[in-house]
Amino acid sequence: MHEFSLVRALLEQIAQLASREHATRATGVSLSVGEFSGVDADLLQLAFAQSSEGTVAQDATLTIRRVPLEARCPSCQSEFPVVGYRFQCPACDASEVVVIRGEELILETVTLERTEG
Ligand SMILES: [Zn+2]
Repeated sequence: MHEFSLVRALLEQIAQLASREHATRATGVSLSVGEFSGVDADLLQLAFAQSSEGTVAQDATLTIRRVPLEARCPSCQSEFPVVGYRFQCPACDASEVVVIRGEELILETVTLERTEG
């Protein structure tokens, strides 16, 4: 499943971050998931819960923020939300538009905890 490989990459990123910050565990992880990224938020939670076991992020709370799909029109430069996958500029009716947001999965923040001494 797609979500499991995403989570694996994510956990690797978190582990690197934790070791760079000399942290022993991550308590919170927040992600931005584009509406058009094809990622299922529930599956992502499940994959995270299963795959984080034994890693620094095993007790971390995963917060997922959905990012709506937005596009820009190259002809008139207007930016607009894409509703119902209708890829057409509402200002000038151009049908060649560029997706600018909503296709990505971004690791926004990781809350790390450090044990002193
Ligand atoms: Zn336009």
